[in-house]
Amino acid sequence: MRPSFLYPLFASPSSIRGVGDKYLGLLHNLGIDRIADLLWHLPYACNDRRRSPSVADLKNGEINTVRIRVVEHLAPRSRKQPYQVLCEDDSGQITLVFFKAYPDSIQKNLPLGAERVISGKVELFNGRWQMSHPDYITAPENSRQIPEIEPVYGLTAGITNKFISRLIYNALPLIPALPEWLEPNHMKSLGFPAFKPALEQIHHPDGTAALLPSSPARMRLAYDELLANQLSLALVRAKVKKQPGRQIAGNGLLRRKVLDRLPFKLTDAQQKVLAEISADQAAASRMLRLLQGDVGSGKTIVALLTMLNAVECGYQAAIMAPTEILAKQHFDTIAPLCEEAGLKAALLTGRIKGKSRTLLLEQLQQGKINILIGTHALFVEDVVFNDLACVIIDEQHRFGVHQRLNLSAKGNRADVLVMTATPIPRTLILTAFGDMEYSKIDQLPEGRKPVDTRAMPLTRIDEIIPALQRKIAAGERIYWVCPLVEESEKLDLAAAENRFEILQKAFGADVGLVHGKMKEKQKDEIMERFKNGEIKLLVATTVIEVGVNVPEATVMIIEHAERFGLAQLHQLRGRVKRGSRPATCILLYGYPLGATSRARLNIMRDTEDGFVIAEEDLKLRGGGEILGTRQSGCENFKVAQMPEHQNLLVTANKDARMILAADPELTSPRGQALRTLLYLFERDDAVKTYLAG
Ligand code: ADP
Ligand code: MG
Repeated sequence: MRPSFLYPLFASPSSIRGVGDKYLGLLHNLGIDRIADLLWHLPYACNDRRRSPSVADLKNGEINTVRIRVVEHLAPRSRKQPYQVLCEDDSGQITLVFFKAYPDSIQKNLPLGAERVISGKVELFNGRWQMSHPDYITAPENSRQIPEIEPVYGLTAGITNKFISRLIYNALPLIPALPEWLEPNHMKSLGFPAFKPALEQIHHPDGTAALLPSSPARMRLAYDELLANQLSLALVRAKVKKQPGRQIAGNGLLRRKVLDRLPFKLTDAQQKVLAEISADQAAASRMLRLLQGDVGSGKTIVALLTMLNAVECGYQAAIMAPTEILAKQHFDTIAPLCEEAGLKAALLTGRIKGKSRTLLLEQLQQGKINILIGTHALFVEDVVFNDLACVIIDEQHRFGVHQRLNLSAKGNRADVLVMTATPIPRTLILTAFGDMEYSKIDQLPEGRKPVDTRAMPLTRIDEIIPALQRKIAAGERIYWVCPLVEESEKLDLAAAENRFEILQKAFGADVGLVHGKMKEKQKDEIMERFKNGEIKLLVATTVIEVGVNVPEATVMIIEHAERFGLAQLHQLRGRVKRGSRPATCILLYGYPLGATSRARLNIMRDTEDGFVIAEEDLKLRGGGEILGTRQSGCENFKVAQMPEHQNLLVTANKDARMILAADPELTSPRGQALRTLLYLFERDDAVKTYLAG
């Protein structure tokens, strides 16, 4: 349970004076539903009002604070014109401009002949100084009311900067006295303030430097956040490690049989990760490992060999794919190899029902099935293994930490290997997979030819049709991916259908269409027809499954490529890299092409290395958004920022492991303080699930 002294932070902002129902709704639009959300609503800039020149020395386009006399009121002749107030000091004149203003209040605030201090952005307009809607107007004796430096917050309609500043100002004192969870020496060496002063400093910045990710206050809070993240992952990991695993070290006979039948030799990279995996399997504790390998790097065979190690020891293994198509594809690859080695592999998806399912489950429970391949359907309740020792999850980085553990619960102390083709930058792996060991296949099989990648404006679409016709005549196959229309699946679909109809005119029955709105079964059918060559040009929305293997596909056309993220473009291009024939990827872009989109397309042309692409993506987008954040399982942090806080993340990872090594149940005084940290960053689950009392 969350400690009661933290309650005020998780209370509604209505506990602050002046926040009624109307404002609650508006704050909600900013993602602010509790006091804590308000405190985490950090300023992104600040207004420095310390510049207070005479009129002659005003700086154009900047915020200035000036002392002036009111000379004349110029009431507008029509409602559309602004109300103007002419002011001066001894050095010159400035006009204050008010649109849609109430003359009464202007006259009251700026009486003729009065001295006033005003603050706001000034502009030179036809050689004359103007300030529209000054942020502050005060009498000289009250000019202290004008803040010297003022934080600037993200806003929404109906919420002004002054309003939210005031709320935050009133919320800061609600932060209770908190025990310090960082080590004093560590704090001192990094110059970190304590938690509360750090938040105060950020909300009362003493200059722009205070807002930089490198400021001590930001670093402190980013570290807290990353430590909470890493600690909760480390708790999961510690729990898994505590459960004894089995020592799996087969005699290698089945693996030898399969390897002998492969038409290729394993790459060095495949061998290296297999060695890492089999060391885990042989160890006394359970395996929890992430295997990363770019599209086409050959993860499937690594998965099979990993499973065979368990089967050699008399156990069962399972591999789960995110979709039916991918499960079927794995089955098609794995089943014949198993058969030749005298083993039985079976496919279990949601589509397998009735008698055949009952029979399959029977065989599974009796241990007659050695390797089970499937979708989520593998992990429903009535699927019971005889003795499951090895679970592989393919392309499933979308799973959360706890789900990963649930899956392995099917087995008896089963090892878990998660495989992903998403090139997540190394440091970000820590935030999403900090609970796992990590292997990477950093090499593609030999003989893969680079994909000829070109960017072209959409206006030249007609030119590529004849080239495509030649490709089809030569027995090659083509993907045509349709634009991603933001936030509208309907428009997505309309665009794809439209393109399908146009292409049908040129290619007739050779064209097929697959989209996200189709039933799983329909999609599979179309994909199957594309695989076996009935369909030669496949128009698709972005549903093209990650990992689908169609070796004859050599051309990837991406319409409105500028609307896709780099990681997505990379994955899509990976679809045509499977065979030995040279492949082409055409990035069709529309205008206007923004700087970031242009940079993305250039990166795509310059490299095919998924990890380079991921790093570039990180630079272009920032960590908060990388790879469509949520999808990739990467965290959305409140304070921490990537790549700026990468070093902090690495330290937090080490720190978390050290903390738990010394105090596994977090019972020491520092451990108790760290529990507070976990609650503060809403890692309640971690405390509840993995810690006693
Ligand atoms: P991914 O890592 O994207 O899942 P796959 O396992 O589907 O990649 O492998 C892609 C293709 O490369 C498959 O056709 C597979 O048979 C082939 N392959 C895998 N390993 C090698 C290798 N060492 N040498 C040559 N081809 C290989
Ligand atoms: Mg794969």
